[in-house]
Amino acid sequence: MGRSIRRKEMAIRTREEYIESLRRQRPNVYMNGEKIENIVDHPAFRVGLNSAAVTFEQANHPEHREMARVWSPLVNEEVSRWTYLMMDEKDAIAKAKLNRALGDLLCPCHYRCLTSDLLHAAWAVSYEIDRSHHTTYHQNVIEIVKQAQKNDWIIGGGLVSPKGDRSKGVMQQRDPDMYLHVVEKRADGIVVRGAKAHGTAAPYTNMLCVCEMEMVPEYYVGFFTPVDAKGITYVCRAPHAPVEREEIDHPLSSRFGGHVEAMIVFDDVFVPWERVFMCGEVESIMTFGLILSAMHLWHKCLCRWGNIDLSIGAAALLADYNGVAGAPHILDGLSQMAVDAELVNACAMAAAVEGSRHESGIYYPRLAPVAAGKLYAAMKVGEHRYLMQDAAGGLVATMASEKDYRSPIVGKYLEKYYQGKEGLPTENRVRAFKLMEDLTASEFAGWYHVMCITGGSPSKTLKDLVAMACNYERCKRKAMAAAKIQ
Ligand SMILES: Cc1cc2nc3c(=O)[nH]c(=O)nc-3n(C[C@H](O)[C@H](O)[C@H](O)COP(=O)(O)OP(=O)(O)OC[C@H]3O[C@@H](n4cnc5c(N)ncnc54)[C@H](O)[C@@H]3O)c2cc1C
Repeated sequence: MGRSIRRKEMAIRTREEYIESLRRQRPNVYMNGEKIENIVDHPAFRVGLNSAAVTFEQANHPEHREMARVWSPLVNEEVSRWTYLMMDEKDAIAKAKLNRALGDLLCPCHYRCLTSDLLHAAWAVSYEIDRSHHTTYHQNVIEIVKQAQKNDWIIGGGLVSPKGDRSKGVMQQRDPDMYLHVVEKRADGIVVRGAKAHGTAAPYTNMLCVCEMEMVPEYYVGFFTPVDAKGITYVCRAPHAPVEREEIDHPLSSRFGGHVEAMIVFDDVFVPWERVFMCGEVESIMTFGLILSAMHLWHKCLCRWGNIDLSIGAAALLADYNGVAGAPHILDGLSQMAVDAELVNACAMAAAVEGSRHESGIYYPRLAPVAAGKLYAAMKVGEHRYLMQDAAGGLVATMASEKDYRSPIVGKYLEKYYQGKEGLPTENRVRAFKLMEDLTASEFAGWYHVMCITGGSPSKTLKDLVAMACNYERCKRKAMAAAKIQ
């Protein structure tokens, strides 16, 4: 059971310790056609590393550290809540509060969610498979969770394969590698081939968890592997964010927010049996899929809640700086966003309270509320940007750059003509507009929009999940009873 204490800190890393751990790894990374030997000091990785470091900063933050830490009976030590396995509703509520508090540290995507999602799902599914197949996967996962907790790992998730032609099933693809698969089973392990199409942050995590969940035994596999295992290549694209830190332009995305995205290629990678937790036991898909989705969508709702808050703040600030804070249509827009934030938050909290305890001992949130919440939040991103930009005005897209604002020649014009509400320093208004641009009209804003819409799951899948939980037959029976139909 989780109990926060202060006396031991061994398994909690600092930001610096996390980054130092990456120096000991040698992932095979390419970007823009070039091999990158040292990602830690490469400018394209700066923003991604900052973003991934946020949960480590939070665990050492004077106001957050207490909620970020919890006692783990598994290793008999205080560990991060991101590697800890929830056991009951109280743990889920504590985790929800932690994730929401992360919103106050302003990082839109810390990517520690998948560490937690994957450890919970692997723990439960390995327990179930062992029971029906007499395998020893669960002990493998226990050892992985212990290491994750003791070393305070961040784990990367390789889940979605390239998939090729979506109208065809896994066995009908012309190229068998469109889905990751086991090409050889050996006495000491398995060999896998394929790729994962969207490995956010993968090269700067400490361990990868890779899964394929197709209903064909060789295409149903789950395992952990070091990020620098032989045969793994990362083809990366730079984050949708400036390479260098900026003071006024891109105030958010030049600090953190965007991540390096990678296609992860598995070119006959050997995985020892000790790191495998499923391999061909297709009937376990329900458990793994359910827990992984419930956990991931839950974290997505919690993150969106914090980000909507920031959107409300940016719109309210600019309305104030423009001198239109009391305008009814702007207040109405702010209220709409506040309603949406509460609804998404309510979905996450309902899921936490109505979660289930799996027989393996872990607790996970209820899926339907967070599938609905994630879908709702995704649909609202565009509307919120409409409200935010409408409240702010055209300078969101037309304001001159920081360099011009600081220019000894033209800066004086901008200082004069960018004035807003009487008595307000012009620079405050300039900064607020640049934040609004970053949040709604920058390259980072585009990445974030796609992440909200598609990341985690496309909308159709989410609607199907909610519809399944609703059970139309049950609803029809109610209607029949109301209409007195026998
Ligand atoms: C910013 C970002 C970060 C991400 N990070 C990660 C990560 O770290 N790890 C990871 O594993 N994944 C990651 N993802 C992947 C994400 O989970 C997927 O993009 C998502 O699951 C959708 O898969 P897809 O992109 O292949 O789209 P598709 O599955 O191709 O969906 C596109 C559209 O086609 C429809 N469609 C698909 N198949 C069919 C069919 N057979 N019949 C009818 N309609 C169909 C869908 O409903 C949807 O409308 C990330 C995605 C984004 C955008």
